[in-house]
Amino acid sequence: MDSKKLFQAATFAAQKHTGQFRKGSAHVPYINHPLQVADLLAHKGEAENTNLLIAALLHDVIEDTQTQPDEIEQMFGKEVLDIVLEVSDDKNLPKEIRKQKQIEKAAHLSPSAQKLKIADKICNLKDIIEVAPNWPLWRKLDYYTWAENVVGQMKGKHPVLEGLFYERLAQGREVLLTRKKRSPWFKGWGNLWG
Ligand code: ZN
Repeated sequence: MDSKKLFQAATFAAQKHTGQFRKGSAHVPYINHPLQVADLLAHKGEAENTNLLIAALLHDVIEDTQTQPDEIEQMFGKEVLDIVLEVSDDKNLPKEIRKQKQIEKAAHLSPSAQKLKIADKICNLKDIIEVAPNWPLWRKLDYYTWAENVVGQMKGKHPVLEGLFYERLAQGREVLLTRKKRSPWFKGWGNLWG
């Protein structure tokens, strides 16, 4: 594992996401999200897969910041860029089309992009509970259904991540439907992926 490159990527992403926040009233810095996705992958068997971890740190910079693909390629190489591009939506398309495309594309992504995609969705399921965007309940449940559709296209390919996804999906739905204040799995950073 190349820790210099990893920290370079974390710093790069932090700079690019400066001033951005996760949806919700808690003003959670956006960078928390890519850090969590990389952290999850490192804890679920991908700790030696440096390019995947770097791509996880950078996975939203093309979609959500002014970052150019060339910058990523020059600093982190083509393999990282390719993974990031695979998981980036085309922001020129309307939201509903982008969401549909994610479902259609999921089965055809590279294995690394699929792992990143599942980890991303797990973190988003968690944030919908923990960071609690100011959405009505139906919209939160709608996100859960859509995420299930996306991950459902990759059945059996990444059992560890898939298992965690369905666990969090069921737990999150229970929290949403019973309107519990805290999710049952949140016990602080150290135990996030337990
Ligand atoms: Zn993301």
